[in-house]
Amino acid sequence: MLTYLTGYKNMETKETIYLGSHVGLSGPDFYLGSVKEALSYNSNTFMFYTGAPQNSIRKPLSELKIQEGRKLIKEAGIDESKLIVHAPYIINAANFSREDLYEMSINTIVNELRRTAGFGVKIMVLHPGSHVGMGSEAGILALAKALDLVFKVDGTDVKIAIETMAGKGHEIGITFEQVKAIIDKCEHKDRLGVCLDTCHISDAGYDVKNDFDGVIEKFDKIIGLDRLLVVHVNDSKNPIGAHKDRHENIGYGYLGFDTLYHVVHHPKLIGIPMILETPYVNEKAPYKQEIEMLRSGKFIDWRN
Ligand code: FE
Ligand code: FE
Ligand code: ZN
Repeated sequence: MLTYLTGYKNMETKETIYLGSHVGLSGPDFYLGSVKEALSYNSNTFMFYTGAPQNSIRKPLSELKIQEGRKLIKEAGIDESKLIVHAPYIINAANFSREDLYEMSINTIVNELRRTAGFGVKIMVLHPGSHVGMGSEAGILALAKALDLVFKVDGTDVKIAIETMAGKGHEIGITFEQVKAIIDKCEHKDRLGVCLDTCHISDAGYDVKNDFDGVIEKFDKIIGLDRLLVVHVNDSKNPIGAHKDRHENIGYGYLGFDTLYHVVHHPKLIGIPMILETPYVNEKAPYKQEIEMLRSGKFIDWRN
Protein backbone atom coordinates (compact mmCIF):
# COMPACT_ATOMS: atom_id res chain seq x y z
CA MET A 1 0.00 0.00 0.00
CA LEU A 2 1.35 3.41 -0.97
CA THR A 3 0.88 5.15 2.35
CA TYR A 4 1.60 8.63 1.01
CA LEU A 5 -1.93 8.72 -0.27
CA THR A 6 -3.55 8.31 3.10
CA GLY A 7 -1.62 11.11 4.78
CA TYR A 8 -3.80 14.03 3.72
CA LYS A 9 -6.02 15.23 6.50
CA ASN A 10 -8.10 18.26 7.24
CA MET A 11 -6.15 20.37 9.75
CA GLU A 12 -9.07 20.79 12.15
CA THR A 13 -11.09 17.60 11.85
CA LYS A 14 -8.16 15.25 11.00
CA GLU A 15 -10.33 13.53 8.44
CA THR A 16 -9.15 12.47 4.99
CA ILE A 17 -9.64 14.92 2.16
CA TYR A 18 -10.36 13.34 -1.22
CA LEU A 19 -8.73 15.46 -3.88
CA GLY A 20 -7.96 14.63 -7.51
CA SER A 21 -8.58 15.71 -11.06
CA HIS A 22 -10.01 14.80 -14.36
CA VAL A 23 -7.77 12.16 -16.03
CA GLY A 24 -7.63 10.65 -19.53
CA LEU A 25 -8.57 7.13 -20.68
CA SER A 26 -6.44 6.45 -23.73
CA GLY A 27 -4.42 3.62 -25.20
CA PRO A 28 -2.37 1.58 -24.82
CA ASP A 29 -2.99 1.40 -21.06
CA PHE A 30 -6.55 2.80 -20.85
CA TYR A 31 -7.91 2.47 -17.28
CA LEU A 32 -4.54 1.36 -15.91
CA GLY A 33 -3.15 4.54 -17.48
CA SER A 34 -5.92 6.64 -15.88
CA VAL A 35 -5.02 5.34 -12.43
CA LYS A 36 -1.29 5.88 -13.05
CA GLU A 37 -2.01 9.43 -14.20
CA ALA A 38 -4.00 10.14 -11.02
CA LEU A 39 -1.23 8.70 -8.83
CA SER A 40 1.35 10.86 -10.64
CA TYR A 41 -0.52 13.92 -9.32
CA ASN A 42 -0.66 12.43 -5.78
CA SER A 43 -4.43 12.22 -6.09
CA ASN A 44 -6.58 9.95 -3.93
CA THR A 45 -9.60 10.22 -6.25
CA PHE A 46 -10.16 11.03 -9.95
CA MET A 47 -12.79 11.49 -12.66
CA PHE A 48 -12.82 10.19 -16.24
CA TYR A 49 -14.99 9.82 -19.35
CA THR A 50 -15.53 6.20 -20.47
CA GLY A 51 -14.78 7.35 -24.05
CA ALA A 52 -14.70 10.62 -26.00
CA PRO A 53 -16.78 13.27 -24.18
CA GLN A 54 -18.24 14.67 -27.42
CA ASN A 55 -19.72 11.43 -28.81
CA SER A 56 -21.16 8.08 -27.74
CA ILE A 57 -18.78 5.83 -29.71
CA ARG A 58 -17.37 3.49 -27.06
CA LYS A 59 -14.70 0.78 -26.94
CA PRO A 60 -15.89 -2.44 -25.29
CA LEU A 61 -15.01 -2.59 -21.60
CA SER A 62 -13.01 -5.78 -22.19
CA GLU A 63 -10.37 -3.73 -24.07
CA LEU A 64 -9.89 -1.08 -21.39
CA LYS A 65 -7.58 -2.86 -18.87
CA ILE A 66 -10.11 -2.41 -16.11
CA GLN A 67 -8.89 -5.38 -14.03
CA GLU A 68 -5.32 -3.99 -14.08
CA GLY A 69 -6.55 -0.50 -13.16
CA ARG A 70 -8.65 -1.76 -10.26
CA LYS A 71 -5.74 -3.82 -8.96
CA LEU A 72 -3.56 -0.70 -8.82
CA ILE A 73 -6.39 1.26 -7.16
CA LYS A 74 -6.46 -1.37 -4.41
CA GLU A 75 -2.67 -1.45 -4.02
CA ALA A 76 -2.55 2.34 -3.76
CA GLY A 77 -5.17 2.38 -1.01
CA ILE A 78 -7.64 4.42 -3.04
CA ASP A 79 -11.28 4.20 -1.95
CA GLU A 80 -13.18 3.18 -5.08
CA SER A 81 -16.42 4.67 -3.76
CA LYS A 82 -14.86 8.15 -4.20
CA LEU A 83 -14.22 7.74 -7.95
CA ILE A 84 -16.31 9.56 -10.56
CA VAL A 85 -17.35 9.04 -14.18
CA HIS A 86 -18.50 12.04 -16.24
CA ALA A 87 -21.21 11.33 -18.83
CA PRO A 88 -20.52 12.62 -22.37
CA TYR A 89 -21.78 16.13 -22.91
CA ILE A 90 -23.66 15.37 -26.17
CA ILE A 91 -26.52 14.13 -23.99
CA ASN A 92 -29.48 16.48 -23.77
CA ALA A 93 -32.48 14.99 -22.01
CA ALA A 94 -33.98 18.39 -21.10
CA ASN A 95 -35.76 18.90 -24.39
CA PHE A 96 -38.36 16.62 -25.93
CA SER A 97 -39.13 18.70 -29.01
CA ARG A 98 -36.96 16.29 -31.01
CA GLU A 99 -38.03 12.78 -30.11
CA ASP A 100 -35.06 11.10 -31.79
CA LEU A 101 -32.53 13.16 -29.81
CA TYR A 102 -34.43 12.67 -26.57
CA GLU A 103 -34.43 8.91 -27.12
CA MET A 104 -30.73 8.92 -28.05
CA SER A 105 -29.97 10.77 -24.82
CA ILE A 106 -31.89 8.27 -22.70
CA ASN A 107 -30.14 5.33 -24.38
CA THR A 108 -26.75 6.97 -23.95
CA ILE A 109 -27.35 7.59 -20.22
CA VAL A 110 -28.36 3.93 -19.74
CA ASN A 111 -25.28 2.74 -21.60
CA GLU A 112 -22.98 5.05 -19.63
CA LEU A 113 -24.44 3.96 -16.29
CA ARG A 114 -23.77 0.32 -17.21
CA ARG A 115 -20.22 1.17 -18.30
CA THR A 116 -19.67 3.11 -15.07
CA ALA A 117 -20.75 0.04 -13.09
CA GLY A 118 -18.33 -2.02 -15.21
CA PHE A 119 -15.44 0.05 -13.82
CA GLY A 120 -16.70 -0.49 -10.26
CA VAL A 121 -17.54 3.22 -10.03
CA LYS A 122 -20.68 4.32 -8.15
CA ILE A 123 -21.19 7.96 -9.21
CA MET A 124 -21.75 9.46 -12.67
CA VAL A 125 -21.87 13.23 -13.22
CA LEU A 126 -24.47 14.41 -15.74
CA HIS A 127 -25.05 17.88 -17.18
CA PRO A 128 -28.78 18.56 -16.85
CA GLY A 129 -28.90 19.89 -20.42
CA SER A 130 -30.61 22.66 -22.31
CA HIS A 131 -34.30 23.32 -22.81
CA VAL A 132 -33.64 24.83 -26.27
CA GLY A 133 -36.41 27.40 -25.99
CA MET A 134 -39.09 25.26 -24.30
CA GLY A 135 -38.51 27.11 -21.03
CA SER A 136 -36.77 25.80 -17.93
CA GLU A 137 -39.91 24.36 -16.35
CA ALA A 138 -40.55 22.13 -19.37
CA GLY A 139 -36.84 21.29 -19.50
CA ILE A 140 -36.85 20.19 -15.87
CA LEU A 141 -39.87 17.96 -16.46
CA ALA A 142 -38.31 16.47 -19.62
CA LEU A 143 -35.13 15.57 -17.73
CA ALA A 144 -36.95 14.10 -14.71
CA LYS A 145 -39.10 11.91 -16.98
CA ALA A 146 -36.02 10.81 -18.96
CA LEU A 147 -34.23 9.84 -15.74
CA ASP A 148 -37.22 7.78 -14.63
CA LEU A 149 -37.13 5.88 -17.92
CA VAL A 150 -33.37 5.37 -17.46
CA PHE A 151 -33.65 4.11 -13.87
CA LYS A 152 -36.43 1.66 -14.82
CA VAL A 153 -34.14 -0.26 -17.16
CA ASP A 154 -30.45 0.36 -16.42
CA GLY A 155 -30.12 -2.36 -13.77
CA THR A 156 -27.26 -0.71 -11.88
CA ASP A 157 -27.00 1.07 -8.53
CA VAL A 158 -24.83 3.89 -9.90
CA LYS A 159 -25.98 7.30 -8.73
CA ILE A 160 -26.34 10.25 -11.08
CA ALA A 161 -24.91 13.54 -9.78
CA ILE A 162 -26.64 16.40 -11.56
CA GLU A 163 -24.10 19.15 -12.15
CA THR A 164 -24.94 22.76 -11.33
CA MET A 165 -24.58 24.86 -14.50
CA ALA A 166 -23.25 28.36 -15.22
CA GLY A 167 -26.34 29.55 -17.12
CA LYS A 168 -25.08 29.69 -20.68
CA GLY A 169 -27.76 29.82 -23.37
CA HIS A 170 -30.78 27.68 -22.47
CA GLU A 171 -29.18 25.55 -19.76
CA ILE A 172 -31.29 24.20 -16.90
CA GLY A 173 -29.96 23.42 -13.41
CA ILE A 174 -28.55 26.92 -12.88
CA THR A 175 -30.09 27.55 -9.47
CA PHE A 176 -30.35 25.24 -6.47
CA GLU A 177 -34.13 25.52 -6.78
CA GLN A 178 -34.02 24.14 -10.33
CA VAL A 179 -31.77 21.25 -9.31
CA LYS A 180 -34.12 20.49 -6.42
CA ALA A 181 -37.10 20.57 -8.81
CA ILE A 182 -35.42 17.97 -11.05
CA ILE A 183 -34.97 15.67 -8.04
CA ASP A 184 -38.53 16.30 -6.81
CA LYS A 185 -40.06 15.43 -10.17
CA CYS A 186 -38.13 12.18 -10.45
CA GLU A 187 -39.62 9.04 -8.88
CA HIS A 188 -36.23 7.42 -8.28
CA LYS A 189 -34.85 10.04 -5.88
CA ASP A 190 -32.57 7.52 -4.21
CA ARG A 191 -30.52 7.38 -7.43
CA LEU A 192 -29.99 11.16 -7.62
CA GLY A 193 -27.44 13.51 -6.13
CA VAL A 194 -25.67 16.72 -7.05
CA CYS A 195 -22.28 17.82 -8.37
CA LEU A 196 -21.40 21.34 -7.24
CA ASP A 197 -19.00 23.14 -9.63
CA THR A 198 -17.41 26.22 -8.04
CA CYS A 199 -16.83 27.97 -11.40
CA HIS A 200 -20.38 27.27 -12.53
CA ILE A 201 -22.15 28.42 -9.36
CA SER A 202 -20.09 31.62 -9.20
CA ASP A 203 -20.88 32.28 -12.86
CA ALA A 204 -24.53 31.54 -12.04
CA GLY A 205 -24.54 34.28 -9.38
CA TYR A 206 -23.73 32.54 -6.08
CA ASP A 207 -21.13 34.41 -4.01
CA VAL A 208 -18.51 31.68 -3.72
CA LYS A 209 -15.73 34.26 -3.44
CA ASN A 210 -16.97 36.24 -0.44
CA ASP A 211 -19.52 33.99 1.22
CA PHE A 212 -18.99 30.28 0.51
CA ASP A 213 -20.36 29.41 3.95
CA GLY A 214 -23.58 31.18 2.98
CA VAL A 215 -23.69 29.31 -0.33
CA ILE A 216 -23.30 25.97 1.45
CA GLU A 217 -26.01 26.96 3.91
CA LYS A 218 -28.33 27.79 1.01
CA PHE A 219 -27.51 24.49 -0.69
CA ASP A 220 -28.27 22.62 2.50
CA LYS A 221 -31.58 24.43 3.00
CA ILE A 222 -32.83 24.03 -0.57
CA ILE A 223 -31.38 20.68 -1.70
CA GLY A 224 -29.81 19.14 1.42
CA LEU A 225 -26.08 18.46 1.88
CA ASP A 226 -26.78 14.72 1.98
CA ARG A 227 -27.37 14.98 -1.81
CA LEU A 228 -23.93 16.42 -2.47
CA LEU A 229 -21.86 13.64 -4.09
CA VAL A 230 -18.98 15.50 -5.72
CA VAL A 231 -17.46 19.00 -5.93
CA HIS A 232 -15.74 20.32 -9.07
CA VAL A 233 -13.04 22.69 -7.83
CA ASN A 234 -12.32 25.26 -10.54
CA ASP A 235 -11.37 28.91 -10.60
CA SER A 236 -13.36 31.10 -13.04
CA LYS A 237 -12.06 33.46 -15.72
CA ASN A 238 -15.11 35.63 -15.12
CA PRO A 239 -16.76 37.58 -12.30
CA ILE A 240 -19.83 36.46 -10.37
CA GLY A 241 -22.98 36.19 -12.49
CA ALA A 242 -21.13 36.20 -15.84
CA HIS A 243 -22.88 33.00 -17.12
CA LYS A 244 -19.79 32.09 -19.17
CA ASP A 245 -18.43 28.74 -17.86
CA ARG A 246 -14.74 29.32 -18.54
CA HIS A 247 -12.56 27.48 -16.04
CA GLU A 248 -9.28 28.98 -14.80
CA ASN A 249 -6.30 27.52 -12.93
CA ILE A 250 -6.52 27.59 -9.13
CA GLY A 251 -5.55 31.04 -7.87
CA TYR A 252 -5.40 32.67 -11.31
CA GLY A 253 -9.05 33.58 -11.67
CA TYR A 254 -11.85 35.56 -10.06
CA LEU A 255 -12.33 33.16 -7.12
CA GLY A 256 -8.69 33.06 -6.06
CA PHE A 257 -6.58 30.63 -4.06
CA ASP A 258 -7.83 31.37 -0.54
CA THR A 259 -11.47 30.83 -1.53
CA LEU A 260 -10.76 27.50 -3.22
CA TYR A 261 -8.55 26.32 -0.34
CA HIS A 262 -11.48 27.10 1.96
CA VAL A 263 -13.80 25.06 -0.30
CA VAL A 264 -11.51 22.00 -0.28
CA HIS A 265 -11.06 22.09 3.50
CA HIS A 266 -14.61 23.09 4.40
CA PRO A 267 -15.68 21.13 7.49
CA LYS A 268 -19.14 20.45 6.00
CA LEU A 269 -17.63 18.96 2.82
CA ILE A 270 -15.26 16.43 4.40
CA GLY A 271 -15.40 13.07 2.65
CA ILE A 272 -16.86 14.43 -0.58
CA PRO A 273 -14.59 13.86 -3.61
CA MET A 274 -13.11 17.13 -4.93
CA ILE A 275 -12.20 17.12 -8.62
CA LEU A 276 -10.14 19.69 -10.52
CA GLU A 277 -11.12 20.49 -14.12
CA THR A 278 -8.76 23.40 -14.63
CA PRO A 279 -7.14 24.07 -18.03
CA TYR A 280 -3.84 22.65 -19.29
CA VAL A 281 -1.03 25.16 -19.72
CA ASN A 282 1.38 24.68 -22.64
CA GLU A 283 -0.18 21.24 -23.14
CA LYS A 284 0.77 20.22 -19.60
CA ALA A 285 -1.67 19.21 -16.87
CA PRO A 286 -1.63 21.63 -13.91
CA TYR A 287 -2.98 19.08 -11.44
CA LYS A 288 0.15 18.02 -9.58
CA GLN A 289 0.94 21.63 -8.59
CA GLU A 290 -2.69 22.50 -7.89
CA ILE A 291 -3.25 19.46 -5.67
CA GLU A 292 -0.04 20.18 -3.77
CA MET A 293 -1.12 23.81 -3.22
CA LEU A 294 -4.65 22.92 -2.16
CA ARG A 295 -3.37 20.36 0.32
CA SER A 296 -0.64 22.50 1.83
CA GLY A 297 -2.37 25.89 1.75
CA LYS A 298 0.66 27.48 0.13
CA PHE A 299 0.14 29.15 -3.24
CA ILE A 300 3.01 28.77 -5.70
CA ASP A 301 3.04 31.09 -8.70
CA TRP A 302 3.90 28.19 -11.03
CA ARG A 303 2.58 29.82 -14.22
CA ASN A 304 5.12 32.65 -14.15
FE1 FE B 1 -19.19 18.89 -16.18
FE1 FE C 1 -17.69 20.71 -13.85
ZN1 ZN D 1 -17.65 23.99 -16.81
